[in-house]
Amino acid sequence: MGKKIAVLAGDGIGPEITVQAVRVIEALGLGISMAEGAVGGAGYDAAGDPLPAATLALCEASDAILFGAVGGPKYDALPRAMRPEQGLLRLRKHFDLYANLRPAIVYPELAHASSLKAEVVAGLDLLILRELTSDIYFGQPRGVRINEAGEREGFDTMRYTESEIRRIAKTAFEAARKRSRRVCSVDKANVLETTQLWRDVVIEVHKDYADIELSHMYVDNAAMQLVRNPKQFDVIVTGNMFGDILSDEASMLTGSIGMLPSASLNAKSFGMYEPIHGSAPDITGKGIANPLATILSAAMLLRYSLGEEAAAGRIEAAVRKVLAQGYRTADITEPGCRQVGTVAMGDAVLAAL
Ligand code: NAD
Repeated sequence: MGKKIAVLAGDGIGPEITVQAVRVIEALGLGISMAEGAVGGAGYDAAGDPLPAATLALCEASDAILFGAVGGPKYDALPRAMRPEQGLLRLRKHFDLYANLRPAIVYPELAHASSLKAEVVAGLDLLILRELTSDIYFGQPRGVRINEAGEREGFDTMRYTESEIRRIAKTAFEAARKRSRRVCSVDKANVLETTQLWRDVVIEVHKDYADIELSHMYVDNAAMQLVRNPKQFDVIVTGNMFGDILSDEASMLTGSIGMLPSASLNAKSFGMYEPIHGSAPDITGKGIANPLATILSAAMLLRYSLGEEAAAGRIEAAVRKVLAQGYRTADITEPGCRQVGTVAMGDAVLAAL
């Protein structure tokens, strides 16, 4: 049976950029069917819900979700449950999307956009894998209480179960098999019991992946190494809180928010694929948004949920080619380049395919 993708464009620049990714997927001629669903503010406008029942049903009947972006000033005053980002959070929860994959790639042509020296980042290609559904962000008990000394005291609980660690470790080793076969697990095992368990379980899971090189690093050192010598890493796997911080740090190494894709996967390789940026209300409708992060998200979708490695590689090669040809959208522009808008960038990628 042919594969199906649910396309949830969302708000702001979401529709402008996802349509370019859809064109690219169609051009590959893989016989994939795609159907659109409303989400975020668009879902609220269409059906009074940021995740309408029809959209959820569409996603359940699909093999993966291609997601644009949600949110915008028009929806800021809505009650929390009706806010656009609830659409995103509910999808993550519903499909148990526990593995967040964020590649940070620096194309040689864009190395100047980084705040680090070009030679430190040029050619960087690392994947941060963040656990997304557990850790101190969800652990109980938590709260603010009055302690015995009569002082206010805040507390949270860092916790991970063995099975939660096992599944994210597996995802990391599997992802490394599609890359340079090196995994660095980041923890704070010298101080935190939870992350000592993390390290122990990662080592256990590694026994099934003898072809992958495993190393361990404390999170404080990892934060430092990411700016000192980021090219030493291939796959970094870490918990929710450390991953939250390190993935933002890594994305900024590239300096170009319009270039970075992401994926959130569950145990069945079902996933939601989206650019890391938001709905960019400041440039919506101007035809200048960079569609490459979304196009690269489509490549990840083909690789991780549809098993179409060759097609994913073709998209990524086409993106490299258009950058080498000098095509740039406004966010990554530079003197002497061929500055183009959203549609023309999509055209250039199609031509390069
Ligand atoms: P943003 O990522 O939308 O924009 C930040 C800046 O980057 C803006 O100047 C924008 O013009 C620029 N930018 C972003 N994507 C671009 C692209 N593809 N091409 C060119 N320039 C691009 O973040 P923000 O301004 O903080 O948030 C705007 C809205 O997006 C808010 O409603 C926020 O809640 C929402 N948001 C949604 C997501 C998501 O859907 N996953 C993520 C972050 C923010």
